[in-house]
Amino acid sequence: MNHPIDDAALNLMLSELRLPTIKSLWPQFTAQADREGWPAARLLAALTEHEIADRARRRFQRHLREAHLPGGKTLDSFDFNAVPMLSKAHVMALSAGDRWLDEGANVILIGPPGAGKSHLATALGLALIERGYRVLFTRTTDLTQRLQLARQELALEAAIAKLDKYHLLILDDFAYVTKDQAETSVLFELITARYEQRSLLLTANQPFGKWQSIFPDPAMTLAAVDRLVHRATIFELNVDSYRRRTALEHQRQRRAAAQPAASTDPAAAQ
Ligand code: ADP
Ligand code: MG
Repeated sequence: MNHPIDDAALNLMLSELRLPTIKSLWPQFTAQADREGWPAARLLAALTEHEIADRARRRFQRHLREAHLPGGKTLDSFDFNAVPMLSKAHVMALSAGDRWLDEGANVILIGPPGAGKSHLATALGLALIERGYRVLFTRTTDLTQRLQLARQELALEAAIAKLDKYHLLILDDFAYVTKDQAETSVLFELITARYEQRSLLLTANQPFGKWQSIFPDPAMTLAAVDRLVHRATIFELNVDSYRRRTALEHQRQRRAAAQPAASTDPAAAQ
């Protein structure tokens, strides 16, 4: 019972089923199967496996594009020795996602400029995307602006709901929100909407005590901080700017290299 196969019709059906990998592989795979006498089930399994593997790769690429992460910042390239107060084990546990994202718990990174907050936030985001989670990285002022526009168009609730699809929303430079941005309190509404539902990762160069300018009034600041820190992991990166430190270290090495005689003089070592 050898029915002829209509290649064009098969390709159309595979497109309709959204199976692009099987569509591109089947001519080559079926030819090989015929040549080598594969059992039909083996051919089917091989094609299906390729589709699934490709689908995971496509999903990762899509999630990476939509996340808008700054490039080149990974956990591998983060020097944990430079931040002794930060537990690498704790960060690695967070990078697996799981419970804290399921519970909508938050992570807050506080430290001076250059301490590595954005790097660490980005690296965590990337690790989570690799685990299949969806992440959005945004400067807090940019997102605030977007939400304010939505509010003007009476679409704030919908704009906030659209962010629900992200398991993690990274709000970089949280404490940089300006006074006029604070007045509309869109950030407060975002925090309230995500509370215990969806996670936030904030970076800030100011400790909580200095967050009054982010919200319209002290009561709202208190309420916002209360929700944010409830079941949050808070890392304080109290270190000098990494860039400044590496620049100083390079300078020191250059100086040392320029004076080799002094350091190799046996008399000086006595
Ligand atoms: P912050 O957001 O705290 O101001 P960044 O994360 O932007 O600081 O760090 C400034 C620069 O220094 C970036 O290029 C970052 O990759 C690098 N950097 C900071 N801390 C580290 C670290 N511990 N290991 C490797 N690079 C770091
Ligand atoms: Mg930063």
